[in-house]
Amino acid sequence: MTRTMSDRPWYRQLHGQVGIALLAGFALGVGARLLDPYGFPAEAFGEGVGVVGDIFLRLLKMVIIPLIFTSLVCGVASLGDARSVGRVGLRTVLYYTMTTTLAILVGLTLVNLFSPGRYLDIGASTDLPEGLSTTSQSLPQFLLNMVPDNIIDAMARGDVLPVILFAILFGLFLVRLNGPNVEAVHRVMEGALEVIQALTLAIVGLAPIGIFALLAREVVRSGPELIMRLMPYFATVGGGLLIHAAVTLPLILLLIARRNPWDYFRAVLPAVATAFSTASSSATLPLSMECAEKEAEIPRGVSSFVLPLGATVNMDGTALYEAVAALTIAQMYGVGLGLPEQALVLLTALLASVGAAGIPMAGLVMMVVVLEAVGLPVEGIATIIAVDRVLDMMRTSVNVWSDLVGAAVITRFEGRAP
Ligand code: ASP
Repeated sequence: MTRTMSDRPWYRQLHGQVGIALLAGFALGVGARLLDPYGFPAEAFGEGVGVVGDIFLRLLKMVIIPLIFTSLVCGVASLGDARSVGRVGLRTVLYYTMTTTLAILVGLTLVNLFSPGRYLDIGASTDLPEGLSTTSQSLPQFLLNMVPDNIIDAMARGDVLPVILFAILFGLFLVRLNGPNVEAVHRVMEGALEVIQALTLAIVGLAPIGIFALLAREVVRSGPELIMRLMPYFATVGGGLLIHAAVTLPLILLLIARRNPWDYFRAVLPAVATAFSTASSSATLPLSMECAEKEAEIPRGVSSFVLPLGATVNMDGTALYEAVAALTIAQMYGVGLGLPEQALVLLTALLASVGAAGIPMAGLVMMVVVLEAVGLPVEGIATIIAVDRVLDMMRTSVNVWSDLVGAAVITRFEGRAP
């Protein structure tokens, strides 16, 4: 680790600047809200500042598909053959399932211990956002959608899973064939990846500004008093996320990946902070890949495979949140859920987290699946929605942190650890 950590003072390194940006963004948001009663146009100010953050977000989104495609093709090609790809794939999926299940178990334990739903009343609901109950998809549909019928269309829509599947197949056939034409394609892919990575690096340098602006707007928009109303529920999800992020995952890093958790966290902090301020695993992907390869010494063959897949299907934070939210809603309606029902919550929360896209509020949309599975009223979502944005930011950070821990674990088993 220390080999790549630069010797510059902390405030000139990206993670230091990101830390400052988080504090400054929060302070600016709080300041604007405090001045609001004195005639300061806090909301307009927040939205104005937020545009800078939106530009950063768009720049990130701009590179996602070309970055996933080129790095996955080159990553698969560097793994060599279908057997290695299969082995890495299997380990990755095992890691994802294991950590997501652990996260859900933490959530279920806390929600049973503290029963945050007792403090909520059904009448306090706000309206459901439009289209909330129609956007979830069934498991067969989800599997079908993984196979693109038109790769250009999938890319244009930013549909990550079909692009991943196509890139893996492309990479596999690239190494299977020989000859000057195929080699030329391979070189073009490597060259395109170099260019895209350089571009990504430049965008990543803007992360402190983007994070600052996005967070300031978010604080102005949601305000701390909203959180107070749902404090017990908020604290249960937050506490669960904290346990998973600060205890479970570091233990996995230490015991399985054999990495110093603190050093590793510092190396990937810009990615985790970006996840926090964008609430989108997908938008964070360019930063995750950059931090993993440049700062955390994860080989490209691993990062280009584990991270895009993780950003799309590995969502520990989302799964934990689904489980806590479902049980909170059950408690609010006075419905007791026994062990079999809670096992069903565990299973559906796992599937819902796999099915949730790496975009803001995706987890809230997937709540419908979990609630319907155990026969709870979907309207319950309306009550917890008030604090969803902040929880979304927190769970997305945990999602991305878990993806990055996964990259370290797979690196260890691929025998290429630093
Ligand atoms: N926003 C989350 C993510 O991108 C998904 C969710 O809403 O839980 O990882």
